[in-house]
Amino acid sequence: MITIALSKGRIFEETLPLLAAAGITPNEDPESSRKLIIATNQDDVRLIIVRAADVPTYVQNGAADLGIAGKDVLCEHGGAGLYQPLDLKIARCRMMVAVREGFDYAGCVRSGARLKVATKYVKTAREHFAGKGMHVDLIKLYGSMELAPLVGLADAIVDLVSTGSTLRANHLVAVEEIMPISSRLVVNQAALKLKRQQIQPIIDTFAEVVHQKV
Ligand code: ATP
Ligand code: MG
Repeated sequence: MITIALSKGRIFEETLPLLAAAGITPNEDPESSRKLIIATNQDDVRLIIVRAADVPTYVQNGAADLGIAGKDVLCEHGGAGLYQPLDLKIARCRMMVAVREGFDYAGCVRSGARLKVATKYVKTAREHFAGKGMHVDLIKLYGSMELAPLVGLADAIVDLVSTGSTLRANHLVAVEEIMPISSRLVVNQAALKLKRQQIQPIIDTFAEVVHQKV
């Protein structure tokens, strides 16, 4: 049995064509089904539906053989023990620093002011600001980061931005890009050795689809 860990929503949707290319069709749609284990047209391939941030944990521990996770999630997790053979170039966006309109971020950076930064990506944010030699107080949030600067919880946020419409709707502006984000295939290293005959063709097919698109 090959187990693939996916999160619901955009990653699942954007993974469907990759699975189809590998001849794998889920028997159910996780948006409408409450099942967390989804069988496929292939008796020896199943999908498990987990929170996006939990994908690396399932794969690292061998509870899933393969998984698809955003670079944001992998950076935050650290990726220890995970083989990451492929950037799938799906679920693309950018990790950005954003502040309220009119907030003088550049001035704060220049003067060395201590900033309060709210984010779900504490590790990535810490590394980013340390790399710039900035002192920041990090505030861990689990969602709705855009709210924090509006109610005085933080001066800045670190969050994912694609179109920027959520920022605009909340009178925030992106002031710095931390990194471009896309989703990666992650593979359990022991599983790859033990089940290479089943896993390698999936990796190869995904790679072909990704390279065709470029
Ligand atoms: P929730 O939003 O329910 O709290 P989540 O944030 O863990 O869950 P998603 O918002 O579905 O899950 O994000 C899953 C992954 O998709 C992220 O880890 C990231 O890699 C990518 N992603 C997030 N936001 C965007 C976006 N606006 N555009 C493109 N990709 C995104
Ligand atoms: Mg989200």
